[in-house]
Amino acid sequence: MTTPSATTLPTVLITGASSGIGAVYAERFAQRGHNLVLVARDKPRLDVLAAKLSERHQVAVDVLQADLTQQPDLAQVEARLRDDSRIGILINNAGMAQTGHFLQQSPQDIERLIGLNTTALTRLAAAIAPRLVQAGTGSIVNIGSVVGLAPELGMTLYGATKAFVLFLSQGLNVELAAKGVYVQAVLPAATRTEIWQRAGIDVNTLPEVMDVDELVTAALIGYDRRELVTIPPLHVTERWAALDGARQGLLSDIRQARAADRYQPQA
Ligand code: NAP
Repeated sequence: MTTPSATTLPTVLITGASSGIGAVYAERFAQRGHNLVLVARDKPRLDVLAAKLSERHQVAVDVLQADLTQQPDLAQVEARLRDDSRIGILINNAGMAQTGHFLQQSPQDIERLIGLNTTALTRLAAAIAPRLVQAGTGSIVNIGSVVGLAPELGMTLYGATKAFVLFLSQGLNVELAAKGVYVQAVLPAATRTEIWQRAGIDVNTLPEVMDVDELVTAALIGYDRRELVTIPPLHVTERWAALDGARQGLLSDIRQARAADRYQPQA
């Protein structure tokens, strides 16, 4: 068997590749021999990573500087995903956490968080999906969070964007899997990256934190198994099956034509 060369493997476009989870994905896909397109705002940092990965792994690494909350920048990345037929894998990873509680969010904070975590992620998936469907192959990986399952944590806005990411991934899987496109939602819990510091939280005050290398290793094991939902910190996998089963059970008790007895007017 011959090892596929970087020219035969699909190129991987990774958003938020300048640090944390995205930077580790970049390293891992370069190790696997994929050419890369790295996207983030911090161009000098992306350039340093690109030079390191191309030299170490003999792959081609392009850098695309973009603030994904800004329309012209987002449009530039969409165009690249639409037009560059070498790109076969999208790692939709760029994201930010919430600083403060819901009552402290300004309209601008709300706009930026939803803009990056949901709008940009969705538009990038929408930009690449038609081409992948036409090719009958390719992958879209969306980075969600277990916070999207846990309104109790009080990170309401952030959690809501991550619940969106999970639903979007499940829906895309329904629509695209039969057309040859693999979709994965990855749900990390607290992972040691800069996201905490950026949100004004000292990561060392958290009781438990996963190492970012361990997180991406686990996410890629789920990727290689073609899992739809990969939750690296979930130790009892049956919990996810039970939750999904309960959801489907609830749907089987939805009767569209008539309100439930408890909502019928009393005689
Ligand atoms: P991180 O180290 O802060 O990385 C975030 C990445 O997104 C950086 O490369 C950053 O680069 C980029 N980014 C931020 N704002 C951007 C913007 N407006 N436009 C373009 N790129 C932008 O955090 P991380 O933990 O690796 O986060 C990656 C993903 O994992 C996020 O979606 C996050 O919600 C999710 N996640 C993280 C954790 C955790 O505990 N770390 C847990 C669950 C889920 P620039 O600053 O150079 O733009």
